[in-house]
Amino acid sequence: MKETIFSKIIRREIPADIVYEDEAVLGFRDISPQAPVHILFVPKTAYATLNDVPATEAELLGKLMLAAADYARREGFADSGYRVLMNVNRDGGQTVFHVHLHLLAGRALHADFG
Ligand code: 5GP
Repeated sequence: MKETIFSKIIRREIPADIVYEDEAVLGFRDISPQAPVHILFVPKTAYATLNDVPATEAELLGKLMLAAADYARREGFADSGYRVLMNVNRDGGQTVFHVHLHLLAGRALHADFG
């Protein structure tokens, strides 16, 4: 796949506000936050879109979700709530082609999927 800005962030070649890291996942603040808390969780192994993740990497996708839940617990908003979502390709609104999970929190999020 073509390299994206997220690979450079993972390699610390460009700055980001990193808030979470484990062996498989990096979490950092979105540069253009859509909520008071807006974190991107990215796998260190890059796949362009969810469509490109092979079944053998099911555990990696699980790790992304669990990283978000772990962060929410640690930051104290797990019970009040948050949203995780992944955009896929053009109609999904994906703009960076390195799989990532958005975590949004800190305000009431409406059930608007438009
Ligand atoms: P997508 O639209 O692909 O689901 O989400 C990409 C996200 O990456 C957007 O919310 C955008 O604000 C964020 N983003 C794009 N470039 C950068 C960057 O250089 N640094 C950070 N921290 N976030 C970025």
